[in-house]
Amino acid sequence: MLPLSEINRVLVVTAHPDDADFGSAGSVAQFVDKGVEVTYLLVTDGDAGGDDRSLDNSGMAELRRTEQRAAAKVVGVTDVRFLGYPDGQVVPSLELRRDIARVIRQVRPDLVVTQHPDRNYRHIAPSHPDHRAVGGATLDAVYPDARNPHAFPELLRDEGLAAWTVREVWLSGGSTPDHWVDITDAIDRKLAALQSHVSQVGHIEGFAEFVRSRSAGLAEQAGLGEGRYAEGFQVVATG
Ligand SMILES: [Zn+2]
Repeated sequence: MLPLSEINRVLVVTAHPDDADFGSAGSVAQFVDKGVEVTYLLVTDGDAGGDDRSLDNSGMAELRRTEQRAAAKVVGVTDVRFLGYPDGQVVPSLELRRDIARVIRQVRPDLVVTQHPDRNYRHIAPSHPDHRAVGGATLDAVYPDARNPHAFPELLRDEGLAAWTVREVWLSGGSTPDHWVDITDAIDRKLAALQSHVSQVGHIEGFAEFVRSRSAGLAEQAGLGEGRYAEGFQVVATG
């Protein structure tokens, strides 16, 4: 695995507001603590989410962008970017690959964190079609698009964005995690980040308990012992 000392910039690519907070906000908080620059890239605004349908989709999109910026701030992330694709309709298109490759070339991350492109047959929620599409398009954007100067030549020609090689990818939400991050010292910040998504989780009874027990379960899976919390990822070497 990539040594922590060689990770200077991290790009987190997800489908919806709150995905990054469920999957990786604790790990992100610890990266930021160590001086790593973290950027969030959201493919949709989550405009089809939430139970408060007094808002139309554009009102919901605006609310959810605001909630995501607040959640990011809790873990020290201020660079939050949105691609504005329609929620619930994401496919791993060439256009999406180019849009993600553009941001990879702009941000030049050592590590990319994204969603698992394969269906998880143990739990259904991690495998929302938008999550799988974003994970697949992001892996394609990492290899070959961002690193090949001849892929999407307009990025170099028109925008001056040189090829960039991402050194490692972490996938969240899969059924076969092989790397666990002990987030015990960041669990309160992860929870606060999640609770920033008021339109999504504000009405859920026992939500804090749910997050803690899920994170404790991952810590147990990782063999970290009692009273610990973790996030799990499948690591993909890209070299
Ligand atoms: Zn989602």
